[in-house]
Amino acid sequence: MTDKLIIFDTTLRDGEQSPGASMTKDEKLRIARQLERLRVDVIEAGFAASSNGDFEAVQSIANAIKDSTICSLSRANDRDISRAAEALRGANSSRIHTFIATSPLHMEKKLRMTPDQVLEQAKQAVRFARNLVSDVEFSPEDGYRSDMDFLCRVLEAVINEGATTLNIPDTVGYAVPELYGNFIKTLRERVPNSDKAIWSVHCHNDLGMAVANSLAGVKIGGARQVECTINGLGERAGNCSLEEVVMAVKTRRDYFNLALNIDTQHIVAASRMVSQTTGFVVQPNKAVVGANAFAHASGIHQDGVLKARDTYEIMRAEDVGWSANKIVLGKLSGRNAFKQRLQELGVSLESEQEVNVAFARFKELADRKSEIFDEDILALVSDESVTADKEQYGLVSLSQHSETGERPRASIVFTVDGKEVRGESDGNGPVDASLKAIESLVKSGAEMVLYSVNAISGSTESQGEVTVRLQNSGRVVNGVGSDPDIVVASAKAYLSALNKLQSKADRVAAQG
Ligand SMILES: [Zn+2]
Repeated sequence: MTDKLIIFDTTLRDGEQSPGASMTKDEKLRIARQLERLRVDVIEAGFAASSNGDFEAVQSIANAIKDSTICSLSRANDRDISRAAEALRGANSSRIHTFIATSPLHMEKKLRMTPDQVLEQAKQAVRFARNLVSDVEFSPEDGYRSDMDFLCRVLEAVINEGATTLNIPDTVGYAVPELYGNFIKTLRERVPNSDKAIWSVHCHNDLGMAVANSLAGVKIGGARQVECTINGLGERAGNCSLEEVVMAVKTRRDYFNLALNIDTQHIVAASRMVSQTTGFVVQPNKAVVGANAFAHASGIHQDGVLKARDTYEIMRAEDVGWSANKIVLGKLSGRNAFKQRLQELGVSLESEQEVNVAFARFKELADRKSEIFDEDILALVSDESVTADKEQYGLVSLSQHSETGERPRASIVFTVDGKEVRGESDGNGPVDASLKAIESLVKSGAEMVLYSVNAISGSTESQGEVTVRLQNSGRVVNGVGSDPDIVVASAKAYLSALNKLQSKADRVAAQG
């Protein structure tokens, strides 16, 4: 019989912890729906006790998603665990994921607790969680750098208290595949009741080995759950990437011999959604989801591929949801055609009001751009102002003048809490002048740490998608804006980042 490999997606929790990747409740819900279409087994929706915003996001995902298990992270204390259980109450299937650090360094410096105290707290937390839900995951944070004897004691004890999944994180991305695989194997051999729980791997990509380590944990160690994120989103170099693990196990079934629930045809749409929502652009040569990932898409080896597909391709682009750029809609397309295309793309807008707003934008875009691609539609609906309630800042109009040999100037009208204001400035270029015109009124004082422009569908006729990353008093936020005019797209992205800076969310940081 073939074993099943459980895919645990933590894009909305560990991925979102990446500075600048924070998402609104609506954005999280939209991504959770896409993860459900992808048939992810477990969705870690957030860390309910860390802030009211996170609590509400976990709660709305728990209420809306029916096919995947919904999980909330929580520290190993009663309050966190109660909050997690409360947020998960509406779920069809729920899991509490509790963690405490077990490495000497973390126990001594961070927790200031003795190993025996940590052991007691871990047991108590799992016992408490098991009284609230039947599915409890335990993670010894920084597990890979923990003392083996101590770790075995902790894991044996938490299984006795009812933990159903044991996750062994390489929190700092220090592991190498063979050693990590053997580490999991040794734990499973030494913990006497190890067969009573499912073993899980959670790897970070600091040395570029998160996927390789996770797969070694599965193959050598016998783990049957992989924790991962779409596009490998995550702090520093990121987490193990879902699409790579899934396609490795699927393509090399001869080697792994494991069954997966995942419907791989939704992978590319999930990747785009996460990238457009967070502003974390996918590199072109990224495996599976990069623009050049398939030979026929990159134009290389086309001759070989045309003669015989498997000369160069080990996977089929269609299987992960790539389709050639198709003109799908145009100026004459009606509301029903638009709505239907949204459905085909797996986008469900919450209300008729949202469909109306998105459709109005579509018409506006179609007036200026004759060919509308799927990418345009996705960009249109991932613009947060379609769904968000009242934003503090919104673009009204922009004019700018640039000419060779002259200093560019821009004049911009935007709303501040519904009231229109006008700002003007010069700058090094039209984008610089436009953003300075906004800043001359807003005076946010934020530092711009990233500005990037990307052509959504590849040609100069396509929309420009701009990402702006701002940093202010220790907070980092990303704003994304798209428009056929990249100066307008830049202004939208800047205002969107300012809106995010305004929404104050003081959250407890989690590791793991
Ligand atoms: Zn992590």
